Amino acid sequence: MLSMRMASTRMDRIRPSPASQLRRQVRELHDRGIDVIDLSSGDLGFATPNHVVEAAAQAARRGETRYTNVDGAPETKDAVRAQLLRQNGLAYERAEVIVGNGSTQAIAGALMATLEDDDEVIVPVPCWAPYIDQVRLNGGQPVELGCPQNNGFKLRPDDLAAAITPRTRWLILNNPVNPTGAIYTPQELAEIARVLLQHPTVWLLCDDLYENIVFDGAKAACLLEVEPRLRERTLVVSGVAKSYAMMGWRIGYAAGPAALIAEMAKIQSVTTSCASSVSQAAAIAALTGPQDLIAERATMLARQRDVLIAEIRESPGLACIPPAGTFYLLASCADLLGRCDPEGTPIADDTGFARYLLQFSSVAVMPGSACGVTPYIRMNFALPAVTLRNAGQRIRAACAALK
Ligand code: PMP
Repeated sequence: MLSMRMASTRMDRIRPSPASQLRRQVRELHDRGIDVIDLSSGDLGFATPNHVVEAAAQAARRGETRYTNVDGAPETKDAVRAQLLRQNGLAYERAEVIVGNGSTQAIAGALMATLEDDDEVIVPVPCWAPYIDQVRLNGGQPVELGCPQNNGFKLRPDDLAAAITPRTRWLILNNPVNPTGAIYTPQELAEIARVLLQHPTVWLLCDDLYENIVFDGAKAACLLEVEPRLRERTLVVSGVAKSYAMMGWRIGYAAGPAALIAEMAKIQSVTTSCASSVSQAAAIAALTGPQDLIAERATMLARQRDVLIAEIRESPGLACIPPAGTFYLLASCADLLGRCDPEGTPIADDTGFARYLLQFSSVAVMPGSACGVTPYIRMNFALPAVTLRNAGQRIRAACAALK
């Protein structure tokens, strides 16, 4: 009998995203009637603002239900351009902007459009896991550059300089950082820029998706506003998902040199075509409408962060790292490794601890190893305080039950 291979060998290069695997597990438990508290996701518990939903409904009723330009309707691009100017003081032409299905697609498109086999992409870790798989899927080699905890899990300029080779094509810099919640100061960004200026063939991808989720008066600058001389080789990526609680609307965007944007548009034209027209109308309303909600929600998130931190500090064996931005709290579970659960199974690593929390207390958390940081767990605090307290109680009880 002929054996037939189903998937291409390319598929061997990637792992399914840890977030989507966990989402499925949590849904299955819910369907079985189990009351799971999900702290593992990248979703915000807030609703999409009403005026945004209304704008989408109106667009659909007006008949804005056809394909738009592949790289985004001109009006959507203008809303993105206005946002980049307001947020970062960066002025872009329409031809320098692309709108796609989430920032995920913008990042994937940029890598697909530029990577030759074995080109290297420097990814500071801890990081959002899909960067690594996207690089691999497109034939590149991810260079996972560890960022030490004693530097706030942030990239050190000397480490960057040492990692650059003639094959380095991109540095991906996420600020604020998922999963640590760290924010690079303008001074730190300037030092990274100084290294990049010495290596003119290395491109920079700034993933600024969490730019508006910052606490205690912090501001997360885009590296390009700190060092405009990098503009000809920088792609700025962001989206509406986190700033406006629009995860499911799937609108992200990128701004950079027109020649790169044109290549990314070619890819979109043969893969997904344009992003949803109705979602683009929603994104325009979000980007050009009232912005007060952003600061209000950041203030609420800061309070929710403090609730979860207080809960985790009471949990024996866990030690958390207070985040300056994003809505993730990273906690070390190093002190719990080697202890045994009530059935006598030892906790070997953070994946084991996350499994234990899900099985014994119905709380889903993201194991840090999925984001390149171990032994840690990442918890989402964009949830009502009562849910966070409930989760905290369960986590405390689960930690206390380990022998
Ligand atoms: N970048 C980072 C750092 C993320 O955390 C995420 C999603 N959680 C994305 C990109 C993708 O977001 P989206 O496609 O929804 O814009």
